[in-house]
This record gives sequence, structure tokens and C-alpha cells, in this order.
Amino acid sequence: MMLEGGKIDWAAHAHDAATVVTETIDFDQCIRLAYEFYKKHPDETLILVTADHETGGLGLGNSGTNLNIELQKYQQCSQEALANAMRKMKSAVAIPSWEEMKFFLKKNLGFWEQITITPREELELLICYEQQSFLKKKSKDIVSLYAKDEPLAVAAVALLDKKDSIGWTTKSHTGAPVPLYVVGKQAHLYSGRRDNTDMANILRRLFNLKQWEE
Ligand SMILES: [Zn+2]
Repeated sequence: MMLEGGKIDWAAHAHDAATVVTETIDFDQCIRLAYEFYKKHPDETLILVTADHETGGLGLGNSGTNLNIELQKYQQCSQEALANAMRKMKSAVAIPSWEEMKFFLKKNLGFWEQITITPREELELLICYEQQSFLKKKSKDIVSLYAKDEPLAVAAVALLDKKDSIGWTTKSHTGAPVPLYVVGKQAHLYSGRRDNTDMANILRRLFNLKQWEE
């Protein structure tokens, strides 16, 4: 059986770190089910957990050595859900005032309440609200591989990532090494650093399948 936690990648393309974390926790719960199965059938189960690549160049620490990743817990929904809510507000007859928008950001990201926002940071959000998202209505969605994101939603989540010390280097996939966790029958065959194609080649060997080119 092959299972994919595909939204981890989508959220990383959109630089939405809190969603990367919650999607990874969801994925972990699926692995837990597989692991329970393995405990009952240890001689006929092999579990491999890995990724086909890293996305976004996610790094811990972006402007100093202090990490504040606990601030992520104040993000109540994905950047995509924030964007959808903002688009809805934009199309309403009466668009929200800046004070109403601040209340929205407070509720969904903990800004001004649990997370200190400096006057300069607020000004940057306000400019985005006025110039790109609400007042001038020239807003264009920011398009990444799997998402169409609203500029103020992107700016707000980027500010949260700056606050919690998470950095990104690209909107694309990267060549960074990925973890490989293995348990079960013949798990020792996967030890050490591996080329990603070894995953398939070792499985073929275990199942006595021929190479495609043969
Ligand atoms: Zn991707």
C-alpha cells in the first residue's frame, strides 16, 4: 500500500509553515495505524516513510539563533483558508475596515494579542491591505504550484513565519536530503545514506521482481 501526505508539499510551496506542521501530524497518525498493523504482523510487514524531495528550503532560524516556533499554534487555519475568507470579505457589499481586518488577523493568527506586532509591521500589513488587497482592488492572487493565494493572507503568514523564526529559500522543490524511517521485515537493507532510486530497487529485490530494463 502506498500513502501520500500530499498537502505537506502544497503548504510548503505556499510557505505556510503551520500547515506543514499540522499536515505532518495528520500523516503521523496514518503511520501510527500502519505501525499497529506491523506490531500484529511483524514477519510480513515492512514500513518505509520518506519524501520524494524537500520543498521550500524550510529552515529553522531566520534572523538569529532564538526559535519561537511555539507561536505557530496561534495560526487557526491554513493560509489557503485565510485567503478564501478574505476573498469572501472582498466581494461583500461593505468591505471590512482596517480595524475589522485587524480583528480577523487577531482571531486567526494571534496578532496584537498573543504575538507582538510592531508599528512598522502593522504599517506593512496596512499598506498591503490598502494597495494590494482591499481598497484599491487591483489585487492579483499570488500563484504558486498548488495554490492561488491572496496578497494580505500571504503577507500575514510570512510575518508569522518571521516572528517564529522559520525561513524559506524557494517556492520550488529542493535537493536537500530527506529522512528515511524504516521498520519491519528486511528493514536493515535500507540503512545509511541512500540514493532515492534505491527505495524501488531494494523493494524489487525483496519481491523478486526484475528491473524494468531487463
Ligand atoms: Zn511539490
